[in-house]
Amino acid sequence: MSSPDITINGIVVQRGQRVTVDLPAAQLYTHAPVAMPVQVISGRKAGPRLFVSAAIHGDEINGVEIIRRLLKLPTLKRLRGTLIAIPVVNVHGLIHHSRYLPDRRDLNRSFPGSERGSLAARLAHLFMTEIVEQCTHGIDLHTGAIHRSNLPQVRANLDDEETSRLAHAFGVPVLINADVRDNSLREAAAELGMPMLLYEAGEALRFDELAIRAGVKGIVNVMRALDMLPVRSGRHRAPPTPVIARSSTWVRAPASGILRTVVPLGARVDKDTLLGVLSDPFGERESEVTAPAEGIVIGRTVLPLANEGEALFHIARFRRIERASAKVDAFQEEHQLNWPEDPGPEGPIV
Ligand SMILES: [Zn+2]
Repeated sequence: MSSPDITINGIVVQRGQRVTVDLPAAQLYTHAPVAMPVQVISGRKAGPRLFVSAAIHGDEINGVEIIRRLLKLPTLKRLRGTLIAIPVVNVHGLIHHSRYLPDRRDLNRSFPGSERGSLAARLAHLFMTEIVEQCTHGIDLHTGAIHRSNLPQVRANLDDEETSRLAHAFGVPVLINADVRDNSLREAAAELGMPMLLYEAGEALRFDELAIRAGVKGIVNVMRALDMLPVRSGRHRAPPTPVIARSSTWVRAPASGILRTVVPLGARVDKDTLLGVLSDPFGERESEVTAPAEGIVIGRTVLPLANEGEALFHIARFRRIERASAKVDAFQEEHQLNWPEDPGPEGPIV
């Protein structure tokens, strides 16, 4: 016999069902309705309720693809608890290839929102009441901002024991114990006492295969840690333990110029290591960009045109740099080495 699991937008999802719900999210002025698409997968057995959301910043599309692949995994047939996938939270932003809403507000600075506030506040309120408040755990998927790429990393409140356990289970080499931003989804979830992870990888408006694969794998790892998915005995290797960044800083352009970058994401740098060179179009005036301290490059600009003061490289510092560097190298090898021979993006990931 089936029993009701969760109700979203008035639609009752029974245990064992997979249901797509269109959450009405403000009509366009053309008269066309806009809906936030939600897919609910209810396991036969009760368990945690996990939401996985993407494109709260409408131009951050790696997470949309991560969710598409996640929803195809055959292992979900054995789900315990409920998975709620929201591949496009900021529908207006995605349509316009924009981080923001049409009024230039940032949805991730508009939580928990309100019924009668700005469009952003209303969408935040809808997302909170229909999704977040009904869940026990959350994973929100992000990328770097436009023209900036991030090494896969998890940001979370690592001072909370359960959040830290799940962040470690995700399986990326770098964790950042990040302060919550005012009015972010993470702050709103923290106020509910809900463990929530933020996965940041790749850049806006681009697909990054490594970031996507690591994201799908990471969500599955977290679901296993929550006992929502079975751990296959023998075949499953526990994800390597990550390292926690002590701090991180952006290196800014000392002068305006055209940038030649010499270090990739994940590179280990020492104090004064050359990161890139800025020059004018004649190559007559050059200024070097160097690392202010030893660390690992966890983010960088991919647009080679820089004005003085613009952020170029994001460097994370670690207590034990050798250990951190070895983990980043192993992670990159694991996800990249066998690309030509492996079954391709749709192949078995986990
Ligand atoms: Zn974002």
